Amino acid sequence: MIKQNDQHRPCCAYLSKCINGFISLLKGMAVTFGYFISPKKIVTQQYPENRETLQMMERFRGHLLMPHDDKGDHSCTACGICEKACPNGTISVLTTKDISGRKVLGQYIYRFSQCTLCNLCVESCPFGAIVMGKNFELAVYDREKLTFILNTSPGELE
Ligand code: SF4
Ligand code: SF4
Repeated sequence: MIKQNDQHRPCCAYLSKCINGFISLLKGMAVTFGYFISPKKIVTQQYPENRETLQMMERFRGHLLMPHDDKGDHSCTACGICEKACPNGTISVLTTKDISGRKVLGQYIYRFSQCTLCNLCVESCPFGAIVMGKNFELAVYDREKLTFILNTSPGELE
């Protein structure tokens, strides 16, 4: 035998859900309205509209870069420490010799498609010759395009 209270229960539950939904909607609208009247509180960035002014966080790691000075020189001595520090073979430091027979950097090959952005190479370099860039728009259709010669293409990734 069905009690009278049980017959009304589904209706009450539905009504309760409607009321809760409406209260939830009001709470959401209150938050939206709060940001509307206090836009300085907004932390969300309007990307890509803000592309020109976008500042990435200090600790953001986009990819490896080898900074060059105004003369096009870099600080890499081709010691190979970063190559050994890299856990997955992302870096290859190819050496050559200059006219005086001194070992110098030939090619600094960086395979971005393998890089885990762990920063171990940057931390291991005793000369501060490599840094992590801030660019994040690095998607390409061809995987081959993710291999860079950092010492001969300064700023290519920037
Ligand atoms: S980037 Fe630094 S650690 Fe790597 S080969 Fe050059 S000088 Fe050595
Ligand atoms: S960030 Fe890590 S994975 Fe990438 S090149 Fe440096 S050591 Fe290798």
